[in-house]
Amino acid sequence: MSVFVYSHEVGTRHDPGPGHPEAPIRLKRILAALDAADDLALERRVAERAERADLVRVHTPGHVAGVLDQVPTDGRMPIDMDTWLSPATGEAALRAAGAAVQATDAVLGGETRRAFLAMRPPGHHAEQAVAMGFCFFNNVAVAAARALEVHGLERVAVLDFDVHHGNGTQAIFEAVPKVLYASIHEAPLFPGTGREDETGLGNIVNTCVRAGTDGPRWRRALEDRILPALDNFAPELVLISAGFDAHAADPLANIRLGDEDFAWITERVVELAERHADGRVISTLEGGYDPDALVRSVLAHLKALEAGS
Ligand SMILES: [Zn+2]
Repeated sequence: MSVFVYSHEVGTRHDPGPGHPEAPIRLKRILAALDAADDLALERRVAERAERADLVRVHTPGHVAGVLDQVPTDGRMPIDMDTWLSPATGEAALRAAGAAVQATDAVLGGETRRAFLAMRPPGHHAEQAVAMGFCFFNNVAVAAARALEVHGLERVAVLDFDVHHGNGTQAIFEAVPKVLYASIHEAPLFPGTGREDETGLGNIVNTCVRAGTDGPRWRRALEDRILPALDNFAPELVLISAGFDAHAADPLANIRLGDEDFAWITERVVELAERHADGRVISTLEGGYDPDALVRSVLAHLKALEAGS
C-alpha cells in the first residue's frame, strides 16, 4: 500500500510574519519535493476541515472559538510573542487538524497503514485552552482522541521526536492511561516542560538530551528508555509528532542529528508498529526550521515510512 500524504495549499498561506521561523517556505519546499518524488509510493490526499466535535475532544470549546474568532481579515494578530494569527490561519489550522481526522479514519479503516500530514501550523505545544509555540490546535492529539473515542482503540502511542517538548500533548493526555506519550527533547529549551520526573499515570515518558548531543548519543537515549516503553505498551496505533528541528542545521536548537537519524527512528517505529499495531503509523509534521535540512529529513522519513507499507 502507499503512504497517504495529506496537504492543502492553505497550509502555505498561514503567515506568522517576516522573519518568523515557522514560515510558509517550510511547507512550500516540502510540497515541491513531494511533487517531484517519483521514487516514493505516495498517495496524495486533500486535507479537509476538522469538525468542531473533533477539536473539542482535546480543546475547550472556548479555546476553539477564541482562536477562530480572533483570526484577522487582514494584517496579523499576536496570541503571544511567538504565535501569530494571519487571515489564512484559521482555515490552515482547521485543515491541519482535519487531516489528522482523515488519516486516523483511513488507517484504522484499512485503506492504508501509513500516513503523513504535510500540514502547518504545527500542533504539539497547543494545550486544552492555550495556543502557544506556533501552535493553535493539537493535531496529533486530535488523531489520538479520535482513535480512542470513535474507533474504540485501547492503546495509542505518541512518539514526539521534535527537539522541543510537546507540552500540549502531555497536558492533554497525562491523565488518560490509554495514551502513552513519549518525547525526546533538548533541555533546557522552550517550553521548559518535559522533565524526566513528569510521568503522568505512568503513561508519560520524557527523555531529555543536552545541547550538543549527536546522532549516536540521541539513538542510545531512545534505545535506553523510549523504545522499550513503547514496546512494552504494545500500542494498537503509533502516532508521530515529527519535528525535524533536532537536525544539526536547525537554527532554533542545538542537537546534531543528520537526515539519516530521522530515517533510523522512523525504521524503529515501523518495526514496533509491525509487532503490535498491524504496521499502522500516522506522522504529523511539527517543527524543522532549516528548509534544506527539513526537506531532506522529511524525504528520509517518508522513505522509511513507505518501507513495508
Ligand atoms: Zn520544535
